[in-house]
Amino acid sequence: MDTKLKILFVEDNPSDLRMIKDFILEGNIMFDSVVVETHEDYVDAINSYKPDIILSDYNLPKFNGMEALNIRNLLLPDTPFILITGSINEETAVNSLKSGADDYILKDNLRRLNNAIMNALEQKRATRERELAEKRLMESEKIYRYMFAKNPQPMWIYDVETLSFLEVNYAAVNLYGYSRDEFLSMKVNDVRVNHKDYIISDNTRTGPKYGYETDIENRRKDGSIILTETSSHSFSFNSRPARHVLVRDITAQRQSESRVRLLSRAIEQSPVCVMITDRSGLIEYVNPRFTELTGYLLEDLIKDESRIITPDVNEKNFYYTLFEKISKGSIWQGEFQNMKKNGELFWAKTDISSIMNENGEISKYIILMEDVTERKALLADYIKAKERAEESDRLKTAFLHNISHEIRTPLNAIMGFSQMLTDQELTKDDRVSFSDIIQKSGQQLLVIINDIVNISALEAGQETCNKKSFNFNDLIRQICNQFSIKTKEQGLSINLNLAISDENAYINSDEIKFIQILSNLLTNAFKFTHKGYVEVGYELQKEKVQFYVKDTGIGIPDDMHDEIFKRFRQIEVGDSRKYGGSGLGLPISKAYVKLLGGDIWLDSVVGEGTTFYFTLPYNENDRITFDTIPDNTQRHLTGNITKTLIVAEDEDVNFLLIEKMLSPQN
Ligand code: ADP
Repeated sequence: MDTKLKILFVEDNPSDLRMIKDFILEGNIMFDSVVVETHEDYVDAINSYKPDIILSDYNLPKFNGMEALNIRNLLLPDTPFILITGSINEETAVNSLKSGADDYILKDNLRRLNNAIMNALEQKRATRERELAEKRLMESEKIYRYMFAKNPQPMWIYDVETLSFLEVNYAAVNLYGYSRDEFLSMKVNDVRVNHKDYIISDNTRTGPKYGYETDIENRRKDGSIILTETSSHSFSFNSRPARHVLVRDITAQRQSESRVRLLSRAIEQSPVCVMITDRSGLIEYVNPRFTELTGYLLEDLIKDESRIITPDVNEKNFYYTLFEKISKGSIWQGEFQNMKKNGELFWAKTDISSIMNENGEISKYIILMEDVTERKALLADYIKAKERAEESDRLKTAFLHNISHEIRTPLNAIMGFSQMLTDQELTKDDRVSFSDIIQKSGQQLLVIINDIVNISALEAGQETCNKKSFNFNDLIRQICNQFSIKTKEQGLSINLNLAISDENAYINSDEIKFIQILSNLLTNAFKFTHKGYVEVGYELQKEKVQFYVKDTGIGIPDDMHDEIFKRFRQIEVGDSRKYGGSGLGLPISKAYVKLLGGDIWLDSVVGEGTTFYFTLPYNENDRITFDTIPDNTQRHLTGNITKTLIVAEDEDVNFLLIEKMLSPQN
């Protein structure tokens, strides 16, 4: 023994004490001791000295061994107690042992003392250890029971042979709705939905093997079905083959998994582009539609650390406003232009919203984009068409207004003057003058009706070309002749600029339409010119002839240069119109020129005059005859240059002489 043994002696005889101590020392037991003789000193020593062993005499003058033993039992029950006495009868010895003494020794047989001390100490140590182990066992069993009962994971133990529940915890009680007692009167099949599937496996579950099963349907007390995942192992419970089962309710998990699957399928198959970025705008996900539309794969975008792919085609502070809004957690909706991988721009109708984390901070942005390029174009077309329809409606109203005026004026004249013709007292001059008015009015009506018929035919696509070769110099002269009276009436001159000799001035085209075009242009030229002249001419260009009608009239503002070729368009609007007309002449002329394969346009300066140009395809093979040179044309040959002088055939018409340099092949 390393440390000294603390011995409490209860002894009144010093020589006996001396003898006992000597015996102990002989046994090489190092000890320390306190000696007492009275009850008070004994109790004191027990409390303060805390001996390892008590060696007590049986009979003392003021105390005795049995009393000392009882006090030890009370105050230091784990401390060995040995009675050492001079004489003791059998009965007392048995009583002392029954009362808890570890041994008794006779003073005349002290040789046994050391062994008795060691045995008593050893026995006490062994008892202490056993008790400690038992205590620990009880405590750990308590802990395990507690861990089982209070475990938040539902669990139970069942008998593998009878399938009866042997134990069940609170979590299982909560999950299934049965009380513990109800559980303990049930069998595991009572909670299994398809229990037949388990009969074989239960029977085979006798080994310690750990088992794991998932998606097992269980029925709760209220009849509702839950989906569970179980893990179990076999063990022996109260000497019965049993199985410990841990249950996990995965109903919500499966539901949310299938919800997530559904949502992700919806996103994958969505006809709308879906893009997810982190809070700094770095792209983390794009759906297949995004790739289909833009040509970008997710790898392209992640690799390049691309942010939302937008070119600099949107307004300057567009992104600033956008990010300011979404970074506050608001939803941004709008349209902007994006660029595809191939550089093509497209319009994207876009919704950007943010996803917050559990701390209420933005963690992701979700961008939904729809390609509305076509829709926008359609809308623009629709708006244009609507505007056109409204414009056309407006123009038709104006046209009806004009046309009724244009028809009524000559019609009133015809009706009025034809009535007056019946007057018997009319002079011959009046009669001639009246019938002249009636005729002119009739012609005016005819022109309007022709225009309406022509434009209707054009719009119905029924207008065709009757091409044949004709001499356009002749035609120009004839048409100009028809305007000779107007020139006289208006004090204007009409100039002809015929650039090709008559024998070469043949063209393969529609003669009637040519006449109509030129007449329309001349009618306008005379209508809108009050002083100066009107000039008709052409020049030969590569494979075409470019005709023109020039006037020194009121001119046409720039913004009307295209407009006046549209139906019913007139510069003058409203009731105060001075010039009359239906607004059909130019559209008809333009349609005819197009039909004949040419172009028509104009140059004009307001207040100075207007020149209308139109081209017709020309091929020198169109020339078919040379013998139709008009008498009024004198040709002078100077070297290889032909000078053509055109002179007036009607002296009333103030034709100008125009010199033109002609190349010999013309
Ligand atoms: P209308 O002459 O019957 O009104 P047009 O289609 O021939 O119809 O001409 C449309 C309009 O173009 C005219 O009303 C006029 O405002 C303008 N216009 C045409 N030719 C001339 C011209 N030579 N000088 C000035 N305005 C012209």
